[in-house]
Amino acid sequence: MSTTTASPVTMAKLLSRHEVAEGTTAFLFEKPSNWTFKSGQYVDMTLLDPSEMDAEGNVRSFSIASAPHEDTLMVATRMRDTAFKRVLNTMPLSSAV
Ligand SMILES: Cc1cc2nc3c(=O)[nH]c(=O)nc-3n(C[C@H](O)[C@H](O)[C@H](O)COP(=O)(O)OP(=O)(O)OC[C@H]3O[C@@H](n4cnc5c(N)ncnc54)[C@H](O)[C@@H]3O)c2cc1C
Repeated sequence: MSTTTASPVTMAKLLSRHEVAEGTTAFLFEKPSNWTFKSGQYVDMTLLDPSEMDAEGNVRSFSIASAPHEDTLMVATRMRDTAFKRVLNTMPLSSAV
């Protein structure tokens, strides 16, 4: 994952996912220890070697929904039936993006 300000690129493991509203899922990732961000930033998330991919590719931008001081990185998204969301929603926990 990366942010736009300093554009650091890092991998992050998926820790858990849970529904936060009807049709909307939050994904919690391990926050790399050397990785910082400011409120309001977003990440460009790349699925690594996804099992399927559509014409939009394997990268999506997501606003960071967790606070900078938290140990985990959370993003939340409406679960449309697209290849990216299907892969994100079924990838095994501990897989990295
Ligand atoms: C800076 C930034 C921050 C973002 N933060 C978030 C976030 O926190 N959560 C989040 O869910 N998304 C966020 N997005 C949008 C996200 O990157 C995806 O585009 C979106 O989640 C749709 O992805 P998808 O794979 O379902 O659909 P796509 O494969 O991108 O598109 C599938 C179809 O849905 C249409 N579509 C895409 N987005 C929308 C929409 N919002 N309303 C109606 N139709 C749409 C497309 O035109 C296309 O026809 C952000 C985008 C940017 C640029």
